[in-house]
Amino acid sequence: MIVVMKAAATADDVQRAIDRITELGLKAHLSKGEFRTIVGAIGDHNPQARQQLEQLPGVDEVMAISQPYKLASREFHEADTIFDIKGVRVGGPHVNIIAGPCAIESREVLFDVGRAVKEAGASILRGGAYKPRTSPYSFSGKGREGLELLKEAGDELGMPTITEVVDPRDVPIVYEFADIFQIGARNMQNFNLLLEVGRTDKPVFIKRGLAASITELLMSAEYVLSQGNYRVMLCERGIRTFADEVRFTLDVSAVPVIQERSHLPVFIDPSHAAGKRDLVPALALAGIAAGAHGAIIEVHSCPDRALCDGPQAVLPNNFVKLMEQIKQIAEIVGHRVTLWGRDDAAPRRAVAGGRTT
Ligand code: PEP
Ligand code: MN
Repeated sequence: MIVVMKAAATADDVQRAIDRITELGLKAHLSKGEFRTIVGAIGDHNPQARQQLEQLPGVDEVMAISQPYKLASREFHEADTIFDIKGVRVGGPHVNIIAGPCAIESREVLFDVGRAVKEAGASILRGGAYKPRTSPYSFSGKGREGLELLKEAGDELGMPTITEVVDPRDVPIVYEFADIFQIGARNMQNFNLLLEVGRTDKPVFIKRGLAASITELLMSAEYVLSQGNYRVMLCERGIRTFADEVRFTLDVSAVPVIQERSHLPVFIDPSHAAGKRDLVPALALAGIAAGAHGAIIEVHSCPDRALCDGPQAVLPNNFVKLMEQIKQIAEIVGHRVTLWGRDDAAPRRAVAGGRTT
């Protein structure tokens, strides 16, 4: 249920509603909007709870949320969620490009690629230290050494960093070195991992599973939100279909569908969907045109020597061209690209896919 407070409700009224929700054995989640305050009441409730809450002073109405996901839903929070990651604004009208190598392989490659993507306008640096690989014999990342390099690069370049965490036991070490937890497609339903990152105060970037529905993706977000961590980003990275010309099929329609149902920022990953670098620009632009709040793109200075995902890595020169096109497309749909944490251009018109504050 959500308890919608009247515009004139006082802080005491809100507190009384929270206390009553807690007394009823439910979890209260406060959401302060520009125009109204709403309090989520999460959990199984008795039939009288709704009527009882409706009678409290300052309460306008009490509504049942029809979706299985509550905190992730637009019903719970109508406006787009916008938050800050080390000065980088994410969500709403802001478009952020996350770029870097698939895996952290060496200082040289990470710094070369980091400098190149920053120069081109990327605002967040990616790099995997723990790589979930289909084969147990493939390179599985440099672990702590990789995380140390990522932190060093992020600090030197002034960019927030994102890296995948694959095991709940690694949450503390990833927390220590990176700014954003990436939950990989294969771990989208690793519920213990989701709960663990949900208990931290660092943003979480959840990739859609290879065969997961949008509802399932939103339920995964709900796991993180349920622990009180509200800085959650979602990512469409391609799903399994019968089409075998590409690695996965990028479900572009997931962007507006998620935006219709949820207030959380939605990114796309053209790299893992395409599997081939020549296809990455078209998919990236399609996602941004569909209203995505950003993209995560793999870039490598020497892809033929890459230890992971070389064939889909874009070369730095081509990434520069792609960034220029992304900026133009973003503007057409009323978004703006964030450059190293600062806004480049004011949005021209209302957003096509998704509501903004
Ligand atoms: C990645 O981003 O490097 C990755 C492994 O992605 P996914 O989980 O989408 O396969
Ligand atoms: Mn990869």
